[in-house]
Amino acid sequence: MSGSPAVVMRLVASAYTVAEKAGAIVRKVLHSGELGIVEKTGANDLQTLADRLAQQSICASLYRRFPKITIIGEEDLPAEEIKEDLIENGHSEEILQKTCPAEYSGLKEEELVVWVDPLDGTKEYTEASRLLHHPTGALTPHKGSDTSQLHSTALWLLDNVTVLIGIAYEGKAIAGVINQPFYNYQLGSGAELGRTMWGMPGLGAFGFTLKEAPGDRRIITTTRSHSNKVVTECVDAMEPHEVIKVGGAGNKIIQLVEGRASAYVFASLGCKKWDTCAPEAILTAVGGKLTDMHGNAYRYDANVKHMNSAGVLATLRNHEYYVSRVPQSVRQALKTD
Ligand code: AMP
Ligand code: MG
Ligand code: MG
Repeated sequence: MSGSPAVVMRLVASAYTVAEKAGAIVRKVLHSGELGIVEKTGANDLQTLADRLAQQSICASLYRRFPKITIIGEEDLPAEEIKEDLIENGHSEEILQKTCPAEYSGLKEEELVVWVDPLDGTKEYTEASRLLHHPTGALTPHKGSDTSQLHSTALWLLDNVTVLIGIAYEGKAIAGVINQPFYNYQLGSGAELGRTMWGMPGLGAFGFTLKEAPGDRRIITTTRSHSNKVVTECVDAMEPHEVIKVGGAGNKIIQLVEGRASAYVFASLGCKKWDTCAPEAILTAVGGKLTDMHGNAYRYDANVKHMNSAGVLATLRNHEYYVSRVPQSVRQALKTD
């Protein structure tokens, strides 16, 4: 490669290590058992110390290197001095070696908007913590006991958790980084936990093996903790062969690109731009699509409304088919604004 790397490639390369650091923070807070849970709009909309520290780490680290970018993070935090040990200065050399798609090679820092969800799947994270720090001591499981069962459930819940950093230009999601802090939990204690996936439409997606769900089955992935009547009605209208209820928007996109689900269907408001920007970039990079329930794209400009009011429909293939199955009643309930 000749010349210095494009700004956007440098930003993605930094976001990669910054997401890894955030993932390490998420693991550390879980292990401490001191989650510092705060209810935001209600009991199903939580913030923990991990959400706060991870966002501080991500924003401060990226601003230090790229002072002119716009960053929009999920958590509303007071402006305060960030501890130096939260700053990540590294970058992924492998990403810097990639050739930037020509259309993005001249982008300037001030043109880029970064959407940050420091911890996606907070509800599942808190539930897992409760199980792990259960008085019977699920952190150290004994085979065959109830405690072992609790431990497995907790670890499964933790796999729903991701750190999301999405990069947008002119309203489009052009790059995304997803860190999954507890990936590899099945390997047991001693295994190195976590993985980082990233992608850029026009360049590709990395950090996982792309797999399509079986073409002859409709496997729908949807929320496990934010359901309602319309959400269920819409899933049913897809005539699914199987429904997988898991937490997190990032996690559901992982289900799509790893062939465990054919469509992510969430016919409700609740998901925000920081939930969908990074996942959309990675999904689009492998030929998938993320829209509202009407099949319309969301925009990620700095001044857009944060709420994805018309729901989320994401697929790797056959997007139009799923859009066509959305019932009129659901379309009415979720108006595009
Ligand atoms: P879920 O699929 O329920 O894990 O939701 C995916 C993302 O959207 C998570 O970040 C949730 O916090 C968010 N979300 C979805 N529905 C709601 C809701 N009703 N209230 C708050 N956040 C929500
Ligand atoms: Mg989220
Ligand atoms: Mg979050």
